[in-house]
Amino acid sequence: MRIVLVGPPGAGKGTQAKIIAGRLSIPAISTGDIFRANVGAGTPLGLQAKGFMDAGQLVPDEVTIGMVRDRLAEPDVTNGFLLDGFPRNVAQAEELEAILVGLGTKLDVVLELAVPAEEVVHRIAGRRLCRNDSTHIFHVDFNPPSVPGVCDVCGGELYQRDDDKEETVRERLAVYERETSPIVGFYDERGLLATVQATGTLDEVTERALSALDDR
Ligand code: AMP
Repeated sequence: MRIVLVGPPGAGKGTQAKIIAGRLSIPAISTGDIFRANVGAGTPLGLQAKGFMDAGQLVPDEVTIGMVRDRLAEPDVTNGFLLDGFPRNVAQAEELEAILVGLGTKLDVVLELAVPAEEVVHRIAGRRLCRNDSTHIFHVDFNPPSVPGVCDVCGGELYQRDDDKEETVRERLAVYERETSPIVGFYDERGLLATVQATGTLDEVTERALSALDDR
């Protein structure tokens, strides 16, 4: 299955992407994770991306699209993939269509995780990631680690992403409304959209998402 996951910051996309992709045995591709890995490693791509990320802005399309095109040319995506955090605007959605046409394939479904705006800031401000592995994600209230500040999975140190600070979160939300939310309509017009409510427990959201995918 070829899936795009869309939703505002704080909808739980990263967490759900990894769980759903694991269940379906397809790779989860997070453009945010790829950027963060490059920032951490100090690569030229990371240096280009960092300023935009810290400000809560989108990294320019020419950088992002080239990176996704390269990733979708890797052999592990032939049986499907789940894109998390891409596309983020209509231009990227159009480019993705073109990339997939070039690969002789197309999307099966776009899963929208919907969450009330007032919940978003609380969700993001409490989010903590493991320094060893960004797939180890916790929340101080919703999914707390057994020992505060320590990863349950590997014992690594938990930290708050720079762009999870409140001021940046508000900017990211504004960017989502302005730039990303139009792709929901774009995919609805193409009959690809499935919307699930991303409220409740992590497991409830996963079950809702998997049953929406089953219905396709
Ligand atoms: P995320 O982890 O998906 O919230 O992404 C973190 C940051 O990486 C975003 O706030 C953007 O600065 C950047 N980013 C991730 N994906 C994209 C994209 N598709 N287009 C532009 N910037 C992106």
